[in-house]
Amino acid sequence: RPGSAKHPGSESTPGRMDPFADTLQRLREAFVSGRTRPAKFRAAQLKGLSLFLQENKQLLQEALAQDLYKTAFHSEVSELILCQNQVDFALRNLHTWMKDEPGAKNLMTQLDSVFIRKEPFGLVLILSPWNYPLNLSLGPLVGALAAGNCVVLKPSEISKSTMKVLAKVLPRYLDQSCFAVVLGGPEETGRLLEHKFDYIFFTGSPRVGKIVMAAAAKHLTPVTLELGGKNPCYVDDNCDPQTVANRVAFFRCFNTGQTCVAPDYVLCSPEMQAKLVPALQSAITRFYGNDPQRSPDLGRIISQKHFQRLRGLLSCGRVVIGGQSDESDLYIAPTVLVDVKETEPVMQEEIFGPILPIVNVRSLDQAIDFINRREKPLALYAFSNSSQAVKQMLDRTSSGNFAGNQGFTFLTLTSLPFGGVGQSGMGRYHGKFSFDTFSHHRACLLSHPGLEMLNNIRYPPYSDFEQKL
Ligand code: NAD
Repeated sequence: RPGSAKHPGSESTPGRMDPFADTLQRLREAFVSGRTRPAKFRAAQLKGLSLFLQENKQLLQEALAQDLYKTAFHSEVSELILCQNQVDFALRNLHTWMKDEPGAKNLMTQLDSVFIRKEPFGLVLILSPWNYPLNLSLGPLVGALAAGNCVVLKPSEISKSTMKVLAKVLPRYLDQSCFAVVLGGPEETGRLLEHKFDYIFFTGSPRVGKIVMAAAAKHLTPVTLELGGKNPCYVDDNCDPQTVANRVAFFRCFNTGQTCVAPDYVLCSPEMQAKLVPALQSAITRFYGNDPQRSPDLGRIISQKHFQRLRGLLSCGRVVIGGQSDESDLYIAPTVLVDVKETEPVMQEEIFGPILPIVNVRSLDQAIDFINRREKPLALYAFSNSSQAVKQMLDRTSSGNFAGNQGFTFLTLTSLPFGGVGQSGMGRYHGKFSFDTFSHHRACLLSHPGLEMLNNIRYPPYSDFEQKL
């Protein structure tokens, strides 16, 4: 592009074709032109997103069915409605969020104007995973566009059908000088990350999160990392086993267990386990019938690789429910494991499938100790009839999100931040938190050009300080 200035960090390694350079240069120029800043422009992009969701509902449902065997109902509740809610909420609140926030003043700044300006970072990169390929692409995108950024979206290459809709159809609804979808797997994403971005929002595994953060560090680019891990689920002795079993089985098997906030393992006493196992069996049969493989409401594992990994986990502990698998169908039955050792793979890695190990603890204290000896989880669940016990669990542990006597319904709320802590991530989004994540909070003080006598007091020499006062 003769005559167009190169931006720092936009150079590719000499001798290699850079498939991203032109796109990134175009978006940078659009950002510098200032066109993404006005509220009107931002609202137009959000309305574009809304229209994309409404006009392509069927196309998106088909893509999600192909990628993840999601039923129309499942796509609606776990992807489309959540995206639409985030867009609508941002549109309703955009003007309020964009307003400068007044800052409190001290004696020295009484006559000044003091405020926080929420300004866009510039060129933002969003990297998304395959398990909720629409929601985890559009959710962050809402915040990035509302905050006035130019955006490159790199969806997961594994959820291919959704990726194609995002690449082919979504850009038609947005200003293409400010927004682009780029495609690729690990290698291409590695090359993309060599470029300088002003913000990177990554959703995926802790392993790749480290790669992304290391690449971002080279440019001192700030990051949000939405990661995963093992989410404990404590079940107290005083619970009604069937109620707990219904909720745990539902949230464990939702999206075939391929959910970052799914309850990953249960901690309970041997006595509760004896009641919980038949109750889990009854819940699973009620949800998916006697042969869950024939249920239209249970999906399949995303890939051969993940299927093999999950099938390996079935040999941990002792199977008390399910345990069947069918490679030709990428099917893993809803499974419950007991007598599981902490050192076995099923207790070492994030399960990400419809398998639920139960680990025995003798008391709430022991459960808290078990949780605190491990990495901070993305979500922590505590089931108890005693509000004191739930409170104890909340007060004495740490996690990205917490739910008492419930599954992950917290993430449907625009009023709550969503994000991890420690190994499960850094940063937060949803609702206004998304807007704030993608905005630099610029501290501003505007002073009077005159009134110099008020400034005189601070100038040296200080030998006559008392006279000045
Ligand atoms: P992943 O980390 O393999 O991939 C995520 C993204 O990174 C994809 O776009 C992928 O193309 C890219 N990528 C993969 N390998 C890369 C590499 N070597 N270098 C650069 N980029 C690379 O994750 P996934 O398998 O798509 O998703 C599953 C993981 O995501 C689980 O750990 C899950 O807990 C987590 N997750 C977290 C959240 C959350 O909101 N916290 C939501 C969904 C999934």
